[in-house]
Amino acid sequence: MSDGTQGPDWSGKPAERCVWCGSSFSEAGTRRLFGRTACGSCATLTTDPVPSPESLEEAYGDWYWPETGQRFSLVGDAILRRSRAAMASRIDEVAPAGPILDVGAGEGTLLDALVARGRQMKGLERRSDHPSIENREIKELEGYGEFSGVVLWHSLEHMGQPRDIVTEAARLLRPGGFIFIAVPNHASLQSAAFGDDWIHLDLPRHLVHLTSDALTSGLEESGFEVTETSPTRAGQLVIGWLDGMVGRLPGGLNLYQSLRRRSARRIVISPGKRAAAIAAGVIFFPFALLATGIEIASGRPGTIYVEARRV
Ligand SMILES: [Zn+2]
Repeated sequence: MSDGTQGPDWSGKPAERCVWCGSSFSEAGTRRLFGRTACGSCATLTTDPVPSPESLEEAYGDWYWPETGQRFSLVGDAILRRSRAAMASRIDEVAPAGPILDVGAGEGTLLDALVARGRQMKGLERRSDHPSIENREIKELEGYGEFSGVVLWHSLEHMGQPRDIVTEAARLLRPGGFIFIAVPNHASLQSAAFGDDWIHLDLPRHLVHLTSDALTSGLEESGFEVTETSPTRAGQLVIGWLDGMVGRLPGGLNLYQSLRRRSARRIVISPGKRAAAIAAGVIFFPFALLATGIEIASGRPGTIYVEARRV
């Protein structure tokens, strides 16, 4: 992605402060990296330059949300549905009785799984035809304490003002209600291994890059009590290693894009390169599993899951 000679390929304004804790980037300890700046206070990375609305729209394109609603080929969509069903069961168990809001509901897989468990659901997403999903932002929802759960499943990192999202979630949750968050962990071993090419960096679509400490302390400052963190529940660990390992091979192979359906790919991939990427993925799979085990054991997993109760 970066060869050190050119800047990021999106346009926008230079980031002036940390989008998570608000510290100024003129303070000591600030570190400028390719396409992102590290906060000297909380270590969160802010995508920098902050992409303009136009360049962000372009970065998502039509591939991100294909019209068919199906993103992955082979068994990918089936795996996605199964992991969402497991997540739905966890959320249903932890959240008190009452409706649940899914912010960044995607194609509605998690939402449907919770409806199947008898939950009343509302979803928010930028583009969706799903009857229970609205194209609105969380700040546009009125009221207080309407929900007993708010889910941010790999969506908080896409928000330009993530702390405001947490504040809005606190407003919409009744006391005792739960927030459920899954995000990438930029302090992970896989982030360190793949650097600018790490799949979960996903610039410029990911606007904030958190660590477990920054996420939990931010939640506590915003009126939550963190009750559970998990190195495995947020998923997407093995693919992070596998995509990075395949990407290190010569030939410019891209495993993640190769696993997506043709209409859901960001780039054009020839059938030969697709076959090569998938074959390499199969070969590297045991090594990716091993690396995942090591990062979990070392306390530096590629993604973070947090449950917190509104106090
Ligand atoms: Zn910060």
